[in-house]
Amino acid sequence: MNNIEKTLSIIKPDAVERNLENEIKEMFKINGFNILKEKKVQIEKSEAEKFYKIHQTKPFYNDLCEYLSSGPIVAMVLEKENAILANRDLMGATNPGNAKEGTIRKKYGISIDKNSVHGSDSIENAKIEIDFFFKD
Ligand code: UDP
Ligand code: MG
Repeated sequence: MNNIEKTLSIIKPDAVERNLENEIKEMFKINGFNILKEKKVQIEKSEAEKFYKIHQTKPFYNDLCEYLSSGPIVAMVLEKENAILANRDLMGATNPGNAKEGTIRKKYGISIDKNSVHGSDSIENAKIEIDFFFKD
C-alpha cells in the first residue's frame, strides 16, 4: 500500500557554512525524496527554543538553541513513501560517530551537536515542524 508522507528536514548551520547544501539536497533526490518546499533562513534563538521545546529539560538544550540560531539554515519539506522513517534512515544516528556508511551524518557530520541535518521523528512532529517553517 502506498503511504506518501511529508517530513521536515533542516540543513543545519555547520553544513550550510561548509557549502554542503547542494550535495545534501542531491542525496535526498538520489534517494527518491521530492523537495516540495525549501527556504534558507536564520532564526532567532527564541524561535530555536520553540522549535526544540521537546528538549527543554535536556542539558544540551541551551547550546542546541544557540547553535541552530547561529547561522543560516535550509528548511525543506520532503515527500516520499514513508518519508519520516526513510529520512531518519538516510540521516543516520544522532552521533555521526555511530552513523552507518552511506548516511548524511556519517558523510558530513562533525560531532553529536554539529551533525548537519535535522529530521522529524513522527507524523505528529512532522506536521508541527512543517507548520513552524512553512505556515503562511
Ligand atoms: N544533541 C546534542 N547533544 C546530545 C544529544 C543531542 O547536542 O547529547 C543535539 C543534536 O544536534 C541533535 C539534537 O540535539 O540532532 C536533537 O536531539 P535528538 O535526540 O532529537 O536527535 P536527532 O533527532 O536530531 O537525531
Ligand atoms: Mg529529534
